[in-house]
Amino acid sequence: MKAIQVKEPGGPEKLELVEVQTPTPGPKQALVRIAASGVNYIDIYFRAGVYKADLPITLGSEGAGTVESVGPDVTEVAPGDRVAYAMARGSYAEYAVVPSALLVKIPAHVDFQTAAAAMLQGMTAHYLTHSTFALKAGDTCLVHAAAGGAGGLIVQMAKMLGARVFGTVSTEAKAAIALESGADEAILYTHVDFEAEVKRLTGGRGVDVVYDSVGKTTFEKSLNCLRPRGTLALFGQSSGVVPPVEPAALAKGSTFLTRPGLAHYVLTREELLWRAGDVLKWLDSGTLRLLIHRAYPLAEAAIAQQDLESRRTTGKLLLLP
Ligand code: NDP
Repeated sequence: MKAIQVKEPGGPEKLELVEVQTPTPGPKQALVRIAASGVNYIDIYFRAGVYKADLPITLGSEGAGTVESVGPDVTEVAPGDRVAYAMARGSYAEYAVVPSALLVKIPAHVDFQTAAAAMLQGMTAHYLTHSTFALKAGDTCLVHAAAGGAGGLIVQMAKMLGARVFGTVSTEAKAAIALESGADEAILYTHVDFEAEVKRLTGGRGVDVVYDSVGKTTFEKSLNCLRPRGTLALFGQSSGVVPPVEPAALAKGSTFLTRPGLAHYVLTREELLWRAGDVLKWLDSGTLRLLIHRAYPLAEAAIAQQDLESRRTTGKLLLLP
């Protein structure tokens, strides 16, 4: 089968299209014929060596497709099932072996590309808005990169929960997308001081929570945007890693700082099915809207990663084997 592998860490040029043996599922594993794979920053971090793994590795942490075969002791799925998953590596390929406990069946009306695009960022938006800081009607939140993959979904889920939502974006075109997703205000953080703008919009109070995927360039002002006892959920670093923080930096507002990750919010099969089930159900009913930036052929994985890093994309990028 064809797969995209990394043999040594580096830039996009380190992605190689290779021919490898189709893997065989072991106990509690299924072999999935991949119809679409999500492209995520986590893939870039593994490629660049920011996240460590024994090389060579097949990249990709999210996919959708059909169960081809199952190993022993698999109860969750059967051959022929249409499934989707996140958080198992190897989806930049024609086939992937996936722990069966991570597989979720796709509703009949949801296509493979939609399902592949929804799993990682969709479950992330779900845990951030429903668990990390569980929004309720009347809460106010700030969502950075509000036209991005995770950001666009957080905006929509925050609105579903009745929150007032401010979204930051870098361009007018992205502002239009954030507003279409339901944001009450789009703040051009490349042109205006978003901290001052949030203070103005909240009459000086600050927001209840900031969902920050940008990291290095936004972190400090994100802290300053919060109301006393507000929460900063720093869940990503598209602009670079935030330098070490002194606990005293949180004293100004008795602030709660957390650095959450999806793996810790799908600790049980029940929790995974709750989050993925909600996301797929909302897509099926049209309650949640997915924006797919582009679907690239598998061989163009390097171009897809370059595009994601370029800051020019909106919504989700996919690879099609
Ligand atoms: P996005 O689709 O949001 O793409 C990144 C966006 O970040 C850009 O489009 C851009 O939006 C903004 N950005 C701001 N500064 C920069 C910069 N210097 N370089 C590039 N982009 C910049 O990506 P994702 O939603 O896929 O992921 C965002 C982050 O969230 C990543 O760090 C990812 O690893 C993390 N993440 C974490 C998860 C978790 O569970 N902890 C799960 C999912 C993602 P704009 O032009 O509007 O500024």
